[in-house]
Formats: sequence, C-alpha cells, structure tokens
Amino acid sequence: WNKALQDALPVLRLLNEQGHEAVFVGGCVRDTVMGRELKDVDIATSAEPQQVMAIFPRHVPTGLKHGTITVMTDQSVYEVTTFRKESAYEQFRRPSEVQFVTDLEADLLRRDFTINAMAMRADGTLVDPFGGKDDLRQGVLRCVGEADARFQEDALRMVRAIRFAAEFQLQIELQTWQALKRHRMLLKHVAMERVGAEADKMMSGSHPERAAALFAASGLLGHTKVLLPQALLQLGAEDGSGEGALLSKPRGELVMALDELVQLKDADTRWTSLCLAVGMNPDDAWQLADALKFSNVRKSAIAAAVRIGNLMEPAIHRYLKQECSEEELRHEWLDAIIQEGRKDAGRWLTAVRTIPLLLAPPNDQPFDLVKAAPVADKLEQWLAAIPITAIRELAIGGKDVVRLLQKPEGPWVGQLLQQLLRAVVHRQVDNDRDSLLAFLKERPIDNGSEM
Ligand code: ATP
Ligand code: MG
Repeated sequence: WNKALQDALPVLRLLNEQGHEAVFVGGCVRDTVMGRELKDVDIATSAEPQQVMAIFPRHVPTGLKHGTITVMTDQSVYEVTTFRKESAYEQFRRPSEVQFVTDLEADLLRRDFTINAMAMRADGTLVDPFGGKDDLRQGVLRCVGEADARFQEDALRMVRAIRFAAEFQLQIELQTWQALKRHRMLLKHVAMERVGAEADKMMSGSHPERAAALFAASGLLGHTKVLLPQALLQLGAEDGSGEGALLSKPRGELVMALDELVQLKDADTRWTSLCLAVGMNPDDAWQLADALKFSNVRKSAIAAAVRIGNLMEPAIHRYLKQECSEEELRHEWLDAIIQEGRKDAGRWLTAVRTIPLLLAPPNDQPFDLVKAAPVADKLEQWLAAIPITAIRELAIGGKDVVRLLQKPEGPWVGQLLQQLLRAVVHRQVDNDRDSLLAFLKERPIDNGSEM
C-alpha cells in the first residue's frame, strides 16, 4: 500500500461495514500498478448517493446528478461515486443522465481504457476484467470494448487516448488507433472546455512532445470546434511535405523545440514555447489560449510572453550580427520589460534559455546555439538588476507629482510617472522620494504638454 491509498482505506472500510461494495478506481489504481505517485484517490461504491451522504456527515454533493459525493476525512478529500452505467449518448457527448447499478463490473465497463478500468478492494485485490494490467505491462493503450463505439459515445476519449499514450509512453493499439483516425471529425461536438483541460494536461505532462506528435499524426487538430490559428494546424500536417514547410521554422527545428519542452516546469511557459516554435504572433497565441478556454490571466500571460519574444527577437538578431550595440540591446530589453512586466519577460527568457532554437531567425541559416547563451545570460543579468517594473512601485505617486508641479490633474500625470519609471529602470535616477522629486525639479520632462 502506498500512503495515499492507506489514508483512504477508512472510507472503503466504513462503506464495507454498512454492507456496500467500495473500491479504489481509475487513475489511482493505474498509477499504483505502475508504481507511480498518485494524484488523487477516487472511490466507487454500490451505495447510492443518499447512503454515502448518510455515512459521511462531512461531505459536499459535488456531482449529485452523476452520483458523485465529495467526502472529507481528516486525511484528505475523496470523490465517492456510485457504480453506474451510462446510457443514451447524445451527439457524441457524455450522457445527460446516468443509471446507478450495484455491479462493479458494469461500472468498469463504462470506463474509457483498459488501464483506467481497474479497481482495487480494501484487502488489496485487483479487479481487472479487461486486462488493464497486462496492457500496462506490454505498453499498450486499448479501449474497453469496441473502440469505434467508445469514441462515438464520447469523442473526448480520442484526446484522452493521446494524453495517456504520451504520458505513459504507450503504443495505441491498432484497432483503437484506426478508430480514432476514423472518428476524428467527431471531436467538433465536444465542448472546448473539456478539450482544453486535456490539452493542458498533455502540455504539463511528462511527454508533451509525444502528445504533439500523436496529435499531429491523428489529424485531430483540424477537427476542434473552434478555428485554431493556421500555424498550429500546420503542426498537424501528416508528413514533412508541403504544409510542414509553411511553418516559419523548418519542421526539424520544430520537432527539436518540442523535444525540449519537457525541461520547462510551468505549463504557461510550455505553451509560450509552443506558440513561439510554430511562429505565432501574440494575437495567435491569445486566440489559441482563448480557444482552449484558459482563464483570462493565463491568456494574457501567454500572449504577453509571446509579445516579448516578438519585441526582442529582431534586436537580438541585430546584436548577433553586430548591427547594434550591447547598450541598444539592453535598452530594448528594459523597454520590453516595462511594457509587459517582469514576470512575463522572465517567462519568455526561461523559454528561450531552455530552447535556444526559439531564437533562430526564420528562413536563416541554422542558428549558432553557442552564441545564444551569452545573450541570454546578459538579458538575465539585466532583468535581475532592474529595481522596479511598475508605476505603483515608484517611491512617489500621482499626488506628489501634482503637488510639486502645481498643475491640475490630468492624463499627463500617468505619462509623467511612466517616464519616471523608465528613468528608474534605465538607472538615470534612484527610486527614492528625494531623488525622484529632485529629478523632477531639475529635469524638465517632456510630458506631451508644456510644463
Ligand atoms: P489523471 O491521473 O490524469 O487524473 P485519470 O485516469 O484519473 O487520470 P480522470 O479524468 O481523472 O483521469 O478520470 C478518472 C477515471 O474516470 C478514469 O480513470 C476513467 O476510468 C474514467 N473516465 C474519465 N473520463 C472518461 C471518459 N470520457 N470516458 C470514460 N471513462 C472516463
Ligand atoms: Mg484523476
């Protein structure tokens, strides 16, 4: 037993004591069989939701319609779901109503893949009617039952197939793969929230590069409900001919860039890299994040980091060709940081540090990787040395400026503060009250009107 399952055992036992069947199911069983660390522990039971709620006073009926009750113990929080079978699939989407059953095997039968259709009892016995353990041992991902039917019931399963095949380095079994390709057009019926959540898990997983390759090979990309940016669709070109060549970077470089993604820790940095690798502009990047139904915070973060890339790349290329000085490069960088913020600038820098290919000029000769590192070092140092990056971090505020210059408030105040920020960032003045006020008095700053 691993710790997470051990902690959850009392939940199974309490249900068992009341005469109900109760088991661990899904991902936690799969991960245990593989000897992996568990994320969350899901429980399935023959008890109906009302009975579950009666047994566990500390609960939240999070998915009552689907039979799911979230149960709180001193150890953790568990989703306890009544055994059910699904019927009446509509429009290739999940059923609107569920039918509770008392038979565990019927519940396992509704699950997507054999590796996800195993259960474990409180005494440690594995219930594995479809050979999930064998499939894991042989490295195979296989639908429970007939793949054609399963993908038609719920087209999201095609995306999940790719996620699990990538994450666990499994081969998609032939029937499953053929069915997937045959039904790929059904993906358009699936809500983008669900697709986006799966895509995000793939991108954050252990093998985003394999997920991208499988996605490309499956042809699924072209069948999402929303229009994806052209650049991303080109990633889905089934071979290196024709379409692949339209990418702003040669296909080989794109593949190399994808291979490096896994080194990046955070999902948004990986998304940023993907966007840069396929040559997206900030609007494309925003559109992609929007299509995947990411939060506004994430959409802006990804777009901002891509924008930094767009701002900096020309300067870096000029610098590398010795067409601009180090001072000019620094200047551009500081301005970009002021414009987009330290955090987003940092995210972009992390991406290009890890994947220097992202700095490769389009349609240029292969990039000299050795040259990129020292540039990134410089950018890193300059970023670290920046005292502040936002107006609100200035030691004086709008009121001080108005009082000092004795002019009525107006848009000029903001503009002036922006100039002060630039002056601080460019080290023309220290960020303390006296220095800033003295600086304002001594140096007439152009604020767009006479002072
Ligand atoms: P992860 O560890 O990434 O969360 P997971 O297997 O737990 O993987 P979930 O999306 O959390 O995946 O789903 C939990 C379980 O519910 C799955 O293991 C599977 O048995 C079942 N399941 C989830 N989505 C579907 C689906 N679309 N069709 C059939 N079964 C599904
Ligand atoms: Mg899970």
